[in-house]
Amino acid sequence: MLNKKTKIVATISDKNCGVPFLADLFNSGMNVVRLNTAHQDPEDTLKVVKNIREVSDRIAILIDTKGPEIRTNPTEKGLEVNRGDKVIVKGGPGKLSYGNIIYMSCEGLVNEIPAGSRLLIDDGDVELIVRSVENDHLVCEAGNPGIILGRKSVNIPGININLPALSDRDREFVQLAIDEDIDFIAHSFVRNKEDVIEIQDILDKNNSRVKIIAKIENQSGVDNIDEILDHAYGIMVARGDLAIEIPYSKIPGIQKVLIDKCIDRRKPVIIATQMLHSMIHNPRPTRAEVSDIANAIYSQTDAIMLSGETAYGSYPLESLRTMASVAEEVEKTKETINDIPVVVINNRISAFLIKTAVKAAVDLSAKAIIADSMSGRTIRGLTAYRGSKMIWAKVYDRRVVRELALSYGVNAHYMEPSETSHEFVQQAVTSLVREGVVKDSSLVVVIAGNFGHNTGASYVEIGTVKNLLREET
Ligand code: PEP
Repeated sequence: MLNKKTKIVATISDKNCGVPFLADLFNSGMNVVRLNTAHQDPEDTLKVVKNIREVSDRIAILIDTKGPEIRTNPTEKGLEVNRGDKVIVKGGPGKLSYGNIIYMSCEGLVNEIPAGSRLLIDDGDVELIVRSVENDHLVCEAGNPGIILGRKSVNIPGININLPALSDRDREFVQLAIDEDIDFIAHSFVRNKEDVIEIQDILDKNNSRVKIIAKIENQSGVDNIDEILDHAYGIMVARGDLAIEIPYSKIPGIQKVLIDKCIDRRKPVIIATQMLHSMIHNPRPTRAEVSDIANAIYSQTDAIMLSGETAYGSYPLESLRTMASVAEEVEKTKETINDIPVVVINNRISAFLIKTAVKAAVDLSAKAIIADSMSGRTIRGLTAYRGSKMIWAKVYDRRVVRELALSYGVNAHYMEPSETSHEFVQQAVTSLVREGVVKDSSLVVVIAGNFGHNTGASYVEIGTVKNLLREET
């Protein structure tokens, strides 16, 4: 059984999404599948969703929108450039790039980019310097050799292009997420709360429970993180774009601050991009990549993400296994509890009991924490302390089981609601015995609610499995 507590998000492409492959990834520690709509059409996405659901109903699905971003348009063949080569850039969604003419997804591009700007393509792999602005195009010069492929990201540091939060294509995918009851929408380039609210309004109109993950990938997103967290379920620190929009030396500090903010607000956080980048082509990671994963975990992230490594790399399963094994080892050398203040999210009594339960489990060397939950709030409260004991969440809602796939140290399972608290403890403990997690002498901390299924935790009970399973007298 995997003891890893850090959750893993793996990006999957429709080109490699067979059921046996997804099952191998799941059994090796993948918790969430990310589908990047920049590289997929709705039919491709539906194909992957179907296969994921065949593997397990505990894998959460995250659909990543394009958001207000610029990309190169599709092309039949990449454009190979050498330093100093002339490249013509035009705006025009849907148009095919050809020769040295590169079309980009934003129509009014030419009016907003002054000469001297830098267009950084594909996370900065190719730099184009704008030498002059003509009537309907930009005349650029390649700053370094490389290949400009289709559908690649384009960043223009320091230039704020006025783009709508949601493109028509994004709206189509938001509707798909609603229709398919997808777990998360990760919205790209969130700049402020309005960008989140625009999607939330669509979800609300459709009575949808899809949760929004705000991708923080530019300076505005960092500056407005507090108001963004007021409206988003969680965030992704999207370091690919972030490190282009902002000097890369600032990224480790920003990453740390954003994780701390999420923990304070009891919201999940994903650290993304280039975590095992070299494993796209190599079977083993670099030492720096291993340390990057460790740093994210020591900084208390909930989840870490694989992008190209699992989407199109030569070693997807090896990448997943490497990430899972590094996480499991690093977690052994972490603090046993994150000593953060109690924060009342919904209920003072629950907030107090949550900290008590985690502390008791650590101090008494309990084997496990068992908690019940309807909405997932109690569980997100427990996980914020990043205690060294696994939280076995017994959840009365299948959708919430999957939402908890993004929360650190939580092993969530569906359970039918019990009539009494005694019955809950009996059923929950028995299921852990059955799974081989605990035995008669194991000490277990139970935190649950006695006053209805949506009112939060109202008691903590601590005992050995043998005592907890004793019949009521
Ligand atoms: C990123 O920029 O780090 C990221 C995750 O976004 P995308 O892969 O959509 O560019």
